[in-house]
Amino acid sequence: MVRTPGAATTALQLETLPDPSPGPGQLVLEVEACGVCFHDVVTRNGTLKAGIVPPFIPGHEICGTVVALGRDTGGVVVGQRVATTQRAHVCGTCRHCTGGREPLCAEAVFLGDAGLNGGYAEYVTLDAGMVVPVPDGVGPDAAAIAACAIGTMFHAVREVGRVAPGDTVLVTGAGGGLGMHGVQLARLAGGRVLAQTTSLSKVGALHAAGAHDVVLHARGEDFSGAVKDLTGGDGVDVVIDNVGTPLFQPTRRSVAKAGRWVLVGQLTGDFVPFNPAQIFLRGVSLLSATSTTRAELRQVLALLARGAIRAVLDRALPLSAAAEAHGLVEAGRALGRVTLRPAA
Ligand SMILES: [Zn+2]
Ligand SMILES: [Zn+2]
Repeated sequence: MVRTPGAATTALQLETLPDPSPGPGQLVLEVEACGVCFHDVVTRNGTLKAGIVPPFIPGHEICGTVVALGRDTGGVVVGQRVATTQRAHVCGTCRHCTGGREPLCAEAVFLGDAGLNGGYAEYVTLDAGMVVPVPDGVGPDAAAIAACAIGTMFHAVREVGRVAPGDTVLVTGAGGGLGMHGVQLARLAGGRVLAQTTSLSKVGALHAAGAHDVVLHARGEDFSGAVKDLTGGDGVDVVIDNVGTPLFQPTRRSVAKAGRWVLVGQLTGDFVPFNPAQIFLRGVSLLSATSTTRAELRQVLALLARGAIRAVLDRALPLSAAAEAHGLVEAGRALGRVTLRPAA
């Protein structure tokens, strides 16, 4: 497995630990693939501090085969291939758990942040309640990223943004691991999709993913004029915002009156100043989306299985190349998700 030895370090170290064994309600997976998320980068480099206790094994986007079961693990069987949601230890009884938003459970911990429990490893222990069987025909890399890279966008586009036919939708950070799937899901929901990127090399792939228009601009440049031009001066009905602070002001200027601005991603630890009147006088709703429920993971896997969406994968690397994978993700050079293959 790979773990981070210290809080603000930039190092990932390959180490050998004893194989994990399952406790009650837990299972052990042999990891086939684990996605590398920007979340992993900000936990490794110290930007994200809440709940992080180094050393730890990163990785919350996992597909693998069940190799051992504790007691009380429901219908899961050894040999089954499963994918996981991002959060473990949900209580199952609080208002969030019973209301269908279990990622908000006070007891939930982010897989890979708390203790030695992430998927950058050959074996990982998971709660049986956080896995979903992978349908035939969905590969390990696609299944691994189904919850985080795709499910987060599924939740943002459908449940929070409520994208409907006729809506114009701006996806920021569209060339990234989440954005590429946000574009597909907004298109699938009937939206007219504008994809924002600073990478010329990603324009073709964004059109292929379903973007009607690509808003390509230089880093630091205000792109809201281009969004206005593409929307008859109005701006967009919905923003799926994967970037946060670095694009806050141009994104704010891009939202139409009565628009729905869904905050999903934050690439830096920086705060942003804004005048609330700039939001409410235009009737804009600030909304937010985080993590994926088990029910949403099932729906995403079904969409993948019937080819309604496709997982956008940059490359699969061996576990020993975890630092290289982080470098690609941190620099925004990956086109879609990078995955690690511990068995490679
Ligand atoms: Zn993730
Ligand atoms: Zn709960």
